[in-house]
Amino acid sequence: MKKRKVGIPRALLYYYYFPFWLKLFSELNLEPVISDSTSRDLLNKGVKKSLSEICVPIKVMIGHVLNLDQKDVDYIFMPRFRSLKKDVVLCPKFLGLPDMIRHSLPGLKTEVIADQIDSKSDDIAKFDNHQKLSKTLNIPKREMKSALKKATDFWQRYRDLLFKGYLIDDFAGIEELEILEEVITKFENDPKPPQSRDQNLEAPVNEEVVDIAVIGYVYNIFDQYINMDIINKLKEMGVRVHTFSMVAEDIIEKELSNLRKPMFWEFTNKLYGAAEHYLKNDGIDGVIHLTAFGCGPDSMLGQILEVDAKEYEKTFMTLRIDEQTGESHIITRIEAFIDLMRLKKENN
Ligand code: SF4
Repeated sequence: MKKRKVGIPRALLYYYYFPFWLKLFSELNLEPVISDSTSRDLLNKGVKKSLSEICVPIKVMIGHVLNLDQKDVDYIFMPRFRSLKKDVVLCPKFLGLPDMIRHSLPGLKTEVIADQIDSKSDDIAKFDNHQKLSKTLNIPKREMKSALKKATDFWQRYRDLLFKGYLIDDFAGIEELEILEEVITKFENDPKPPQSRDQNLEAPVNEEVVDIAVIGYVYNIFDQYINMDIINKLKEMGVRVHTFSMVAEDIIEKELSNLRKPMFWEFTNKLYGAAEHYLKNDGIDGVIHLTAFGCGPDSMLGQILEVDAKEYEKTFMTLRIDEQTGESHIITRIEAFIDLMRLKKENN
């Protein structure tokens, strides 16, 4: 029997959960189809169908949904992420995403499966989070639960590697489950994970390498088009990049407990906790806050980080990306920032 095709937009939390979804759909004997990488054309199509004041990542998402709609898939899978922690929600754009898509794209011909993810942790494998998927595709509960268990085990292996210091970028371009499995196994057997000292604030500073923490949502940091490939540009400049996904959850929680009141939005809290950890870390030479035009939560986070960077005397820069940002402008700013780090290191 021909496998049914389920489209997954390469946007928003794709970068965090794609191993989970690839494994899940493969276990359910479905064919996952991932939208193309973000490009000028894809973004322009998203922008045209979006409200002008909406944040850039949502415009990108709309472009990816349109891209999948042209790929002849049977369904588009786009969960409504509501919560990943008890009593904390995600940003309102996530909460309203399926409705926004429905209203922005009334001519969409592909059926959208929009399960609500209501979880107490980043582990989203509960059956209740996938009821619509199960019902729409007529998958028995027992089969669904078994596939979800395998998907979460696989995702956990990926997550553990991120904690060990691998970047989401080391995996994100992989679309085939078999290749992803091979890469994950290879990294698991690597005796020297890249940045294991992220968990250890006392580790000695390497004088040769510049260590920069890039604080931003996965969809801003790892969409190479939208951020003009800054991760690779930094690497080419000899920078070791650190991101929130490398910071253990207990460290993030500890940092959050210092706030009188955490922020309302889960990923913003994760970024805050990771940023504070890096701001206090002598092994980190500087912090870049990578934010997108139109992001409400980041306007608050950015202010806090700016003040705290001054307090901890950490060199700090905000990079704001929008649909028009020019590459040369970004590169010039990054180069100046890295030169400053090197000068500081030399002087020290
Ligand atoms: S957190 Fe900011 S960038 Fe992300 S979806 Fe919400 S408003 Fe947009």
